[in-house]
Amino acid sequence: MGGKLPRWRSIISQLADQLNALGERLVSALAEAHDAAALESVRVRFLGRSGEVTALRRGIGSLPPAERPEAGKVVNEAVTVWERLLAATDAALQRRALDAQLDVAIDVTFPAPPARAGSLHPLRRAMEDACAYFERRGFAVVLGDEMETEYYNFDALNIPPDHPAREGLDSFYLASGLLLRTHTSPMQIRTMQAHPPPIAIVVPGKSYRRDSMDARHSPMFNQIEGLMVAPGINMGHLKGMLTGMCREVFGPNQAVRFRPSFFPFTEPSAEVDTTCPGCGGSGSLAGGGCKTCGGAGWIEIGGSGMVHPEVLRESGYDPELVSGWAFGVGIERIAMVRHDMDDIRVLFENDPRVLEQLA
Ligand SMILES: [Zn+2]
Repeated sequence: MGGKLPRWRSIISQLADQLNALGERLVSALAEAHDAAALESVRVRFLGRSGEVTALRRGIGSLPPAERPEAGKVVNEAVTVWERLLAATDAALQRRALDAQLDVAIDVTFPAPPARAGSLHPLRRAMEDACAYFERRGFAVVLGDEMETEYYNFDALNIPPDHPAREGLDSFYLASGLLLRTHTSPMQIRTMQAHPPPIAIVVPGKSYRRDSMDARHSPMFNQIEGLMVAPGINMGHLKGMLTGMCREVFGPNQAVRFRPSFFPFTEPSAEVDTTCPGCGGSGSLAGGGCKTCGGAGWIEIGGSGMVHPEVLRESGYDPELVSGWAFGVGIERIAMVRHDMDDIRVLFENDPRVLEQLA
């Protein structure tokens, strides 16, 4: 037997030498490939259609037919190994690129930006604070429809058909014959007609009047209405409650004063003023006059009075047995004074940059 190998073995070992040499060159080319483009050019050079492996395969065609299958198998095995090598190099390059990006992008010791917490809208806060004062004193919070009949919005509140407030210019009438309520007062009637005295309610909600939008007016505004009816109720009770509410929403030193006024549904009637929180009631600030109150020391927040006997009668109550007070205070007014704002539109624009400052 000594030393005489079959001829195909020597061909295969020759081929193996070629493959080993090719493999070594491939490995050193891969070691030089530092990015995806370089890697691709290595792949094309060795394994591409016109690459070195293709040239090698072509040589197999010139081998004796009996040896071709074995030669093809050896080449395929080598190619499989090299393809894995290329894939591994590709993965390593991608990992390195990602690591480089992460090194730049993430510094885990960098302080995080402060979390942005939401907050209640200034109008909502003003309304909730005003309601909370009365709720703690046993008042029920009552909500009503924003669409009302003329009866509840006007007639039952002693506002006769010839009253200026009923002219089309002041109210939004709907096609159905209803109108958008011009105040929250219809809920006085609806509550009294549904419940016998005593009554103690507040009604927060939207009201509508045909005003053009400007710094002081809005066709939609929010009110909180109060109503208390029981035997022996008088204006002193009203003043005490309004003073308490003003202290809740503006601060502990608030005072309240009444100015005589007229409303069809109260008698007597009074405008409600409270101490200007901007200047503490003095009307002046270190730098001159107080802008919030125009130097008066007082700001008007709403209207009030003793419930008119006609309104009590219309609701089924006997004015000889019970009496009551009612008030309506503007929520926008509270929010504007609280935040020293001179334009009501800011409250409706909902610019997050402004709301963040008011939070
Ligand atoms: Zn003032």
